[in-house]
Amino acid sequence: MLPITVFMEVVRILYMPAGTLGISTKKAENFSDWYVEVVRKGEFMDQRTPVRGCDVFMPWGYAIWEQIMHYADALFKEHGVQNAYFPTLIPESLLTKEAEHFEGFTPEVAWVTEAGDEKLAERLALRPTSETIMYYMYSQWIRSYRDLPLRINQWANVFRWETKATRPFLRSREFLWQEGHTVHATLDEANQEVLDMLEIYRKVAEELLALPVIILRRTESDKFAGAYYTVALEAFAAEAGRVIQVGTVHNLGQNFSRAFDIKFLDKDGDEKYAWQTSWGFSTRFIGAVLAVHGDDRGAVLPPRVAPVQVIVIPIIFKGKEEPVLKAAREIRDKLRRAGIRAEMDDRDDYTAGWKFNHWELKGVPLRIEVGPRDLEKNGVTVARRDTGGKKFVEMGKIVEHTKEILGEIQANLYERAKKKLDESIITVRTMDEAKNAVENKKIVRAFWCGDPECERKVKEITGGAEIRGTKFLEVESADGENCLVCGKEATHVVYIAKSY
Ligand SMILES: [Zn+2]
Repeated sequence: MLPITVFMEVVRILYMPAGTLGISTKKAENFSDWYVEVVRKGEFMDQRTPVRGCDVFMPWGYAIWEQIMHYADALFKEHGVQNAYFPTLIPESLLTKEAEHFEGFTPEVAWVTEAGDEKLAERLALRPTSETIMYYMYSQWIRSYRDLPLRINQWANVFRWETKATRPFLRSREFLWQEGHTVHATLDEANQEVLDMLEIYRKVAEELLALPVIILRRTESDKFAGAYYTVALEAFAAEAGRVIQVGTVHNLGQNFSRAFDIKFLDKDGDEKYAWQTSWGFSTRFIGAVLAVHGDDRGAVLPPRVAPVQVIVIPIIFKGKEEPVLKAAREIRDKLRRAGIRAEMDDRDDYTAGWKFNHWELKGVPLRIEVGPRDLEKNGVTVARRDTGGKKFVEMGKIVEHTKEILGEIQANLYERAKKKLDESIITVRTMDEAKNAVENKKIVRAFWCGDPECERKVKEITGGAEIRGTKFLEVESADGENCLVCGKEATHVVYIAKSY
């Protein structure tokens, strides 16, 4: 018979909450399974819901979204953007007003057709995006140049009825996002707005989330339905060899203002159609953070976005509980007073080892171990999540050191990801080289003639990698180069990659 203590240990392990047994898949070996395991075991999102693709943002995942909202919202407001909220339901007649837009979204729209026992006179769409409902209102609000620029953002949910396999945070039928919609008097102002929003998005990606991004202007066939042009920010999951679109900024030109009759009386007394932009980022950002920074032990969160930046863990031995708990509590409080998001895990029904594992899975950037032996030397052990490095820190220097190390982790995560991204971009001149590079999980830099037929062939020949676009903020010359597909004179330097 097993001794009772062994039996109890087995029971304890069996009943431990999900996320305690560690990640069983290696990131470099099977990225897809690894990713799902990180999301589930770190308790970011739960997909076991009754409607496929409508997932639960668990508290830990939602807390990251709150950090992102908080950071971005301040930047939006600084830029003169106001928040508002528009209805979820959009009548079919409104959704179809801008033909190109409607056509682009039709396959993904979910409809409400009945209320109670009654069939509705007109189908109502669950918003896939809110251009139509917002611009319907804008046309009633905007009368003269004095009403411009108008900048409104909403934090909301949207529905896109995906038929492909869903993936937590990266592809789902309902997700959370922000969508900003601006109206301007001139094209120049709308162009400037695109640049300003790209800079804000870049800050969210690179400075908050430590995600290096490539900023690309989408091709004509790949732009937002109804836009004049679309610019996207792509993060890169190196182990998957796939880019992740984390945000898009559209210059809508006058396509929607003409369809929705958004006109204003200009200073010169003429009535003119307005120029518009729209821009959005979503909870995909969370997926990108997990995909890019995570490792074989689970999530790795950049300190600036981590809901808990420091977890203080008292190492408790029988008879020495009180001084250890007291010191741990004091450290947590001191860190909090210094503006650091610190928590203490003093649950007594879990071992210290279990707790280390648990908070590593969740990606908490820094762990402070408070044990009797370190306390005798008047210090603690500090462990970094990004490198696994541990060091002894004197009690009097904890706040100072913590701040410093958190800064180092933030910088290290960005630099690590940036290096992988830069090393993954390979310039090629033939389709064979392109195919080969894609198979080796690279981003292909190539020359293209601009013909959509060649674009289609790129996807076909590489088995799914697409032309993601041309660099938007810098000019890259294709002079003297030939299209990698047809061999004719090239006009664009493009980036080709598989994507999530
Ligand atoms: Zn070509």
